[in-house]
Amino acid sequence: MRKRIFPGPVSSEILRKAEKFCATTTIGSQICVQQRRGPFVYDYDGFQFVDFHCDASVNNLGGNHPAIVKAMLSQIVTGNFFSEFNNAPNDPAVKLAELLAEKSPVGHPAKVYFGNSGAEANEAALKLCQAFRWERGERDRWDLIFFKNSFHGRTNGILRGTTSKPEVQSGPFLTPWDKEHTIYPPYPSKGVNSEYFKKYFASLDPTKINALFIELPCQGEGGIIPADTEMVQYVYEWTRKNGVLFIVDVIQCGMGRTGHLFGCDPAFWTTVKPDMATVGKALGGGLPIGAAIFRSDLDFEKTGMHSSTFGGGPMVMRAALAAFGEIRELILNGTVNLLEIQMRNALNAIERKFPTLITETRGIGAMWAHEFTSSETRDKVIEKCERLVEEEDCGVRLLGAGRKAIRFMPPLNIDRETLKLGFSLYEKVLSTL
Ligand code: PLP
Repeated sequence: MRKRIFPGPVSSEILRKAEKFCATTTIGSQICVQQRRGPFVYDYDGFQFVDFHCDASVNNLGGNHPAIVKAMLSQIVTGNFFSEFNNAPNDPAVKLAELLAEKSPVGHPAKVYFGNSGAEANEAALKLCQAFRWERGERDRWDLIFFKNSFHGRTNGILRGTTSKPEVQSGPFLTPWDKEHTIYPPYPSKGVNSEYFKKYFASLDPTKINALFIELPCQGEGGIIPADTEMVQYVYEWTRKNGVLFIVDVIQCGMGRTGHLFGCDPAFWTTVKPDMATVGKALGGGLPIGAAIFRSDLDFEKTGMHSSTFGGGPMVMRAALAAFGEIRELILNGTVNLLEIQMRNALNAIERKFPTLITETRGIGAMWAHEFTSSETRDKVIEKCERLVEEEDCGVRLLGAGRKAIRFMPPLNIDRETLKLGFSLYEKVLSTL
């Protein structure tokens, strides 16, 4: 039998044209996904992969989920694929806004702004913060706090907050004004000395600080770094004492990924009441979405201060309503808890077998990482897991995180057999190194 070559001829041509005609962005994988069925993805040449990537926690319900398909079809038959929500509201958008405003941890009453991406949600949050200070006459409060190694988006305003990927800020992008007005404390992870951390905050002059943004309960792109609850509570209290807005970004961690709708345990949110929360990714059920949920008193004073053409469109909103319901069910019926146990056990066992390659297993819910000894080894593992389809019926689709880690973020509804298959294929690759 002739050896199969990955990427196959169709994908190879797509990759060649992408290099020639598409802007340089973050393309790193050679799996050009054409189809999705449950926990599997298929490329244009028919190669099959277990999906441990989920498009960075967008496709949390796997592929072709009947509730999402039904929701989209029910909008398609109206003949109205899109109408501008910010011109006149539509029913699914106000329903979703009501759900998010009522269920989110943001102090009540709350309102919601809809955009099309996580970055847009954070941009909206930024503008709300600036408008709030302006209206109150606090025109000196321009400074923002973002934690080191965080990721909040790549657009020109919020890139101030993204240090986990140096290319996002480096060179021409971070302006001298941004540098002067941004504070980067260490992320309150377990590895940080709490006395040092508290002293750091005590040394800040809060009178110039507008808001603090934080990913919870862990940093995602930065490498799945869990936060220490006590230190987060300390930071929250510090913001309350000093009149600083507290904004939680649960764009990657939210919508079931950590086992909760809004990233942290509901008990945690009884003591920490953010002024705003930003969500995105899996909220859209696979369609583009971003939402900023904020205390109603922080709303823009005048119409026209912020808006977007596509935000809140009825097709996306229907898919999001369906995704919200399905994900809530997977949390309530214990599916994500069970997945957490299965993932933790499997990944710890693999770490024990390959101590010269893997230095740490960490994570929460259905969001885990293996830390490797070097970025070269990490990259080789990801590439070999894709290339496995040259010898096996199936490969594994993986995603890096931080400098040396691989992220494991399967669909929340993955069945046990497929999960095991994915890990056994991954192990097979590790044993060749
Ligand atoms: N915030 C967090 C925590 C993220 O992980 C991401 C994307 O990975 C974003 C914001 C930006 O989202 P988007 O890529 O949809 O703009």
